[in-house]
Amino acid sequence: HLQSTKRLANDVEMPLFGLGVYKMTDRDETIAAITKALQIGYRAVDTAALYYNEAEVGEAIRHSGVPREEIFVTTKVWNSDQGYDNTLRAFETSLKKLNMDYIDLYLTHWPVVEKFVDTYRAIERLYNEKLIRVPGVSNHHQHHLEQLLAKANIAPIVNQIEVHPYLSQQDLRAFCAQQDIAVTAWSPLGRGGVLVDETIQSIAAAHGKSPAQIVLRWHLQNDIIVIPKSVTPHRIEENAQIFDFELAEQDMHKLDALNQNKRFGQDPDNFKFDF
Ligand code: NAD
Repeated sequence: HLQSTKRLANDVEMPLFGLGVYKMTDRDETIAAITKALQIGYRAVDTAALYYNEAEVGEAIRHSGVPREEIFVTTKVWNSDQGYDNTLRAFETSLKKLNMDYIDLYLTHWPVVEKFVDTYRAIERLYNEKLIRVPGVSNHHQHHLEQLLAKANIAPIVNQIEVHPYLSQQDLRAFCAQQDIAVTAWSPLGRGGVLVDETIQSIAAAHGKSPAQIVLRWHLQNDIIVIPKSVTPHRIEENAQIFDFELAEQDMHKLDALNQNKRFGQDPDNFKFDF
């Protein structure tokens, strides 16, 4: 069900499903969306320093009536704050804005060349100090992970990457599985861009489900954690109704076959700062 979890490499239980809050900039709209999500049973929120809404995330959680420890909060250190000391400082700022005393999952947002290893070392320290429950990274290709694994004392436990049926990331997901690194999909709906796909629409019609529900279910059955974003109440509900049906192997194969290595976001090897 909605509060199903995945047991991570360090035995922390991470919700398989949560709310992404990128581009939620309007204060009231952000608080309303998170409040709605928590009311209907969401137990994870994915934010970042870059999203400029950590204060709203903290406020919505505090006022929700759901105990803090029942909600899995993810935030990320932004690129301009990377390096060892800067990351420790950025973490303090995030913690203050969220107004929390720990964060569940803290991620390097993108692997900034010549900095991401030191950034991750600071995240390891925060983990040792029990200020975060899970150390992780985002947008790391296999070569970034290999570089980290060679230097890290504690392997990253989560890698949050762009995944959807048009960018299935088979090889990177296989590498992560082999290293016991859990994969979270960002833009799990391809920012809405995969929902017009004819194959997805026909599978949706056959199941009496929406295209978004089919895509999110495909992720879950591939052992991928999802954090779809919506501010629209009926979509916040719709996206959560993916635990009451199953896709047959044949449908999974059809969806797997849609891969075209198409990114809606940036390639980590070619990241442009000013986007
Ligand atoms: P998404 O794939 O979740 O798509 C969101 C968009 O799809 C919405 O704005 C809406 O237009 C549409 N949508 C949502 N539900 C729908 C429904 N049921 N029916 C029809 N359309 C629907 O894209 P996203 O916001 O880019 O990604 C989700 C989250 O991932 C973000 O909010 C953020 O938390 C995270 N993220 C992380 C990174 C990173 O670098 N780590 C990058 C991008 C996003």
